[in-house]
Amino acid sequence: MMVASARPRPPWRQHNVGTIRRRKIPRDSLMATYFLRTTNRDTCGSCGMCAEACPVEAVDMASGEPAVDLDWYIGCGVCVTRCPDEAAGLALRTDLAHEAPPDFTALHRTILDEKSKA
Ligand code: SF4
Repeated sequence: MMVASARPRPPWRQHNVGTIRRRKIPRDSLMATYFLRTTNRDTCGSCGMCAEACPVEAVDMASGEPAVDLDWYIGCGVCVTRCPDEAAGLALRTDLAHEAPPDFTALHRTILDEKSKA
């Protein structure tokens, strides 16, 4: 039998992608997003699989084509892996004040440094 911990969760563990999907907290306040979605309109077959796959419901097919809400897209790339036409892609953000870490080791080191300051 598991016993629930009474210890409060640290701020960085109190939210997940569901918080973003429900549009509760601006994406950039909650997570580092270094990539944004691109769509090759010449090859997109408008199948909607990218919209179905998006964990934060940032892809809308109401117009018959994928419309990506770039304010909420999290750059996870799940939609890219689901696209049968290889029309969905990712592009590095150019609007950030800082550069993306060069690799996962540097990223994790930065996260640990930031958490130790909290
Ligand atoms: S999964 Fe690919 S082909 Fe289908 S709507 Fe999305 S971008 Fe277009």
